[in-house]
Amino acid sequence: METIIGIDLGTTNSLCAVFKDGKPILIPNNQGEFLTPSAVGLVDEKVIVGKSAKDLKVTQPENASVCFKRYMGTDTEQEIAGKKFNSPELSAIVLKTLKEDAEKFLGHEVKDAVITVPAYFNDHQRKATKLAGSIAGLNVKRIINEPTAAALVYGFHDQDADKKLMIIDLGGGTFDVTIMEIFEGSLEITSTAGESFLGGEDFTFRMAAWVLQQVGKNLEMVEFRQPELMVRLIKLCEEAKRKLVTETEVSISIPDEKGNLTDQKVSMTYDQFKEITSELMQRLEKPVIRALRDSESLPDEIDEIILVGGATRMSLVSDYIKKLFKKDPCCQHDPDQVVALGAAVQAALIKDDVAVEDMVMTDVCPFTLGMQIVKTFGRQNHEGYFLPVIHRNTVIPVSREETVFTMHDNQQKLTVEVYQGESRKVKDNIKLGELAIEDLPPAPEGQPINVRFSYDMNGILEVELHIPKNGKKYRTVLTNHVKNLSEEEIQSAVKKLQGLKFYPRDQQANRDIVVFAESIVGEVNAFERESLEQTIDAFEHAMSSGEQEIFEAAKQELLMRLSSLGHPYKKNTEGLNE
Ligand code: ADP
Ligand code: MG
Repeated sequence: METIIGIDLGTTNSLCAVFKDGKPILIPNNQGEFLTPSAVGLVDEKVIVGKSAKDLKVTQPENASVCFKRYMGTDTEQEIAGKKFNSPELSAIVLKTLKEDAEKFLGHEVKDAVITVPAYFNDHQRKATKLAGSIAGLNVKRIINEPTAAALVYGFHDQDADKKLMIIDLGGGTFDVTIMEIFEGSLEITSTAGESFLGGEDFTFRMAAWVLQQVGKNLEMVEFRQPELMVRLIKLCEEAKRKLVTETEVSISIPDEKGNLTDQKVSMTYDQFKEITSELMQRLEKPVIRALRDSESLPDEIDEIILVGGATRMSLVSDYIKKLFKKDPCCQHDPDQVVALGAAVQAALIKDDVAVEDMVMTDVCPFTLGMQIVKTFGRQNHEGYFLPVIHRNTVIPVSREETVFTMHDNQQKLTVEVYQGESRKVKDNIKLGELAIEDLPPAPEGQPINVRFSYDMNGILEVELHIPKNGKKYRTVLTNHVKNLSEEEIQSAVKKLQGLKFYPRDQQANRDIVVFAESIVGEVNAFERESLEQTIDAFEHAMSSGEQEIFEAAKQELLMRLSSLGHPYKKNTEGLNE
């Protein structure tokens, strides 16, 4: 059977793993690193991916894109060097790179993958992720929830355990909470809750907004008119946020409109950080409480709290957990790596690998799925009510049927509007799509129509209508207003991706150094800046000279210069404990 790779396609970082010789292992990228920043850039009309694209975002914001996973399942497009890309296309570029890393590592072609998504990703977002996989030339065998993947690793390494775990996953842009029971190798997810627009980046953004406020600048103005200032400030706030894990006060420099550092500084204490992000912390609480309630668990019944995702390193999060559960969270496996490793365990389950033959896993549907109905009270019809068909935290795969009735004699048309959410009225839920029929058989008012919802292991919904009177069936993958999985659309996106030139991979490591050094230019004083620029020029020249000795000398010179300026070039260290 073909190799199936496991991919954690994150908002900030992506990783790839494979199940080999009885265990999941990570696959390094072309830099020898496991974490590949989810960033795409264009240099000389060529695509760069990962660390160098992330650095490019700081020096030339218009030539790179980051955090595009936030727009998965929407029609929002990002512009990079004047070219437009949607979120699946940018994600496909990252996936293609990971696929190539895996092929190099394994020494053969890879076609199949398991891709993880935040548990709270809705139907649109899941389909968009699947589409990204198809564009990248991957056959997506399964989409699994990120906390479920993390749970699989804990379950895999602790198959004899009998305990209840809570997994708290706060990444760059999403938040998920999952409760799971392990018993004799069987892993049962009992509840999942979360928010798909809450992550570590929101904390950084709040910091940046506060800093601008302190110096009398208007956030909207800066965002639109001075993107260089904004991205540099975000980078500085990101560093400051990490320092606040161990320090009680940080100082943040204010960049000028070109993004260069000035002498002006604003300091922020941990308590101030806590205060300006209190609204975000309140939003974190709700899913934790809901997950506990849905699995009918009390905080003291949770044996272990597992932290996943880089943003759980913030003291705010660990302090909150300690307060609520009265115990320290556990991080037996690296919070950055565990999701990708879990995707590889899932791949092993799909392949029936002997190492996982005693493992059984059940997952749940994280939200309620239903449809719009009309309610009648006081002899009047009221539209806009939500009828749940599949309740949240139902074990998947699941298929449920509800019957609706026509409202008029000889009614010919019927539209089933499908929603996801927990509110009584559909206007407060998310519309997933609709299924319309126009040829109902003639019958008096009250003709029954069966509506079946099937939610599969990938978390993808299918709706089927059945008319008992004539036996006709209508089935749909919902008519989304987002890009759907139509064959033509995939093909045109594949062509677009093939039409892009990628930066030669063997040269990318050198390019990364240049981009990093350029990102430092704005952070040093005028005198140091000039000499740094000269050293970069010399290195760039040496890169194209073809003379190995000259090149090595210029490289060493640049690396030493960067170190002496207090900004040593490290390969991607994002997310590692600093
Ligand atoms: P994703 O899965 O969404 O790609 P990650 O799990 O890689 O995200 O987490 C990225 C987030 O974690 C970012 O918002 C980053 O700022 C935050 N983060 C990483 N390391 C730290 C740290 N040491 N302290 C605080 N936040 C951190
Ligand atoms: Mg993640």
